[in-house]
Amino acid sequence: MAEPRRKPNLVKTKVPMPAQDPQVRIKNFDEVALGYTPEQAVEEARRCLRCKEPRCVQGCPVNVKIPEFIMLIEEGKFLEAYYKILETNNLPAICGRVCPQENQCEKHCLRGEKGEPVAIGRLERFAADYAASCGEPRHEPTNPAPPKGKVAVVGSGPAGLTCAADLAKMGYQVTVFEAFHTPGGVLVYGIPEFRLPKRVVQREIDNLKKLGVEIQTNMVIGKILSVDELFSEGYDAIFIGTGAGLPQFLRIPGENLNGVFSANEFLTRINLMRAYRFPEYDTPIKIGRRVAVIGGGNVAMDAARCALRLGAAKVYIVYRRSEEEMPARREEIHHAREEGVEFKLLTNPVRILGDDNGWVKGLECVTMELGEPDASGRRRPVPKPGSEHCLEVETVIIAIGTTPNPLIANTTPGLELTKFGGIVVDEATGQTSRPGIFAGGDSVTGAATVILAMGAGKRAAKAIDAYLAARR
Ligand SMILES: Cc1cc2nc3c(=O)[nH]c(=O)nc-3n(C[C@H](O)[C@H](O)[C@H](O)COP(=O)(O)OP(=O)(O)OC[C@H]3O[C@@H](n4cnc5c(N)ncnc54)[C@H](O)[C@@H]3O)c2cc1C
Ligand code: SF4
Repeated sequence: MAEPRRKPNLVKTKVPMPAQDPQVRIKNFDEVALGYTPEQAVEEARRCLRCKEPRCVQGCPVNVKIPEFIMLIEEGKFLEAYYKILETNNLPAICGRVCPQENQCEKHCLRGEKGEPVAIGRLERFAADYAASCGEPRHEPTNPAPPKGKVAVVGSGPAGLTCAADLAKMGYQVTVFEAFHTPGGVLVYGIPEFRLPKRVVQREIDNLKKLGVEIQTNMVIGKILSVDELFSEGYDAIFIGTGAGLPQFLRIPGENLNGVFSANEFLTRINLMRAYRFPEYDTPIKIGRRVAVIGGGNVAMDAARCALRLGAAKVYIVYRRSEEEMPARREEIHHAREEGVEFKLLTNPVRILGDDNGWVKGLECVTMELGEPDASGRRRPVPKPGSEHCLEVETVIIAIGTTPNPLIANTTPGLELTKFGGIVVDEATGQTSRPGIFAGGDSVTGAATVILAMGAGKRAAKAIDAYLAARR
């Protein structure tokens, strides 16, 4: 008998994602979005049109086989869907949670033309979480003996982890050197638990270890060993994925007062060192009753939402442009607002005010209006004369961006750099100005996204394989 013809689900909106109630979640660090049930995942998967030339795949920097994995979910073959994603993406539970899908795969989805695109990210997360709930996954070591060569990866963020995993799958012996005591990069020290639980990152890192990747923590390359010493130790090639962890400051008066944090320090203390579980963990963090977070990206949203959860009565986002120009993901802005964060848009801080004991007591700001577009393509904010005003706050968190840490550059002769300290590479291969040294992710581009870092790690792995094959 012929198979009945498939009828796609033509509902225009995504199946909603269950989430913790805002009033409950501002009192805990548990995950906000709760994930699809199998029934919800199948219903959403039925929205995919299985396009013959799927534009969603072209929008994905690691080319996940999107219609194929969605079809498997629709058929109830959840584990198979997970394996299909793994063919090109080693960190699906992470990407499913934090990738800016709205600017990548989902931006190109055909369903987005007349309604909401297919919820590709939510489905990716569902498949990965389902596999984990079954005690899966299948990650047999693929290393041949002897290995094809030895590669060192510096930094264990998404760029380094992806490069390491792909090289291990190709048959290389790979060691990842990480400066912190825990691998994962921004995934563990930056993005808070309520968006990306640490157990999810740990789970995906454990899967990489099953591929044979060795991870050495507390290894600051450039201090303990230099890049050139890694070569002397027998590594045939090196990938640098050290990210962009150096915070930028505003250079306004009062930045040295007590109660001013860089978002990096604030989030690292909370996420990696578990300050929110003091005294169980012995890293306290002092938070004022009122907090101003300066910036409009994901980092600013994360810092503001953490401050609320730590008990601040009032949290402001202070951003000098309008909401339209905010670089944060729409979902994060929406969640922050639902939780009660107040947005002070078109507002620029000019001075942090202190009390007699050197603690923050306020933030002096000016109101801005938007002028002509600047070099970034966004309309340039211009101060309105006479609009000075003051926000009464006890804590100021600065989240206006980061640049690459100069340690590797300062200790690796011959590495060409950009003006902002990024490593210069050939975009297609990640090859730096030094033979055998490759780089990718935020250490090249400056602060960007998880999936772009992963894409760079993948391209570099391929190029390292070609480079070493040519030398064999
Ligand atoms: C708070 C926050 C929220 C974010 N939210 C999102 C989001 O929602 N979605 C998204 O796509 N992106 C988000 N990003 C950006 C994203 O996390 C980064 O673009 C991405 O992690 C970059 O990956 P990477 O591997 O290049 O570097 P990183 O993740 O920074 O990893 C670099 C690693 O290298 C290590 N390292 C540095 N120097 C050395 C050294 N000398 N020796 C050894 N190890 C070293 C570091 O300790 C770190 O572990 C966010 C960033 C932050 C800070
Ligand atoms: S573009 Fe959208 S509808 Fe088409 S295959 Fe991709 S996810 Fe499915």
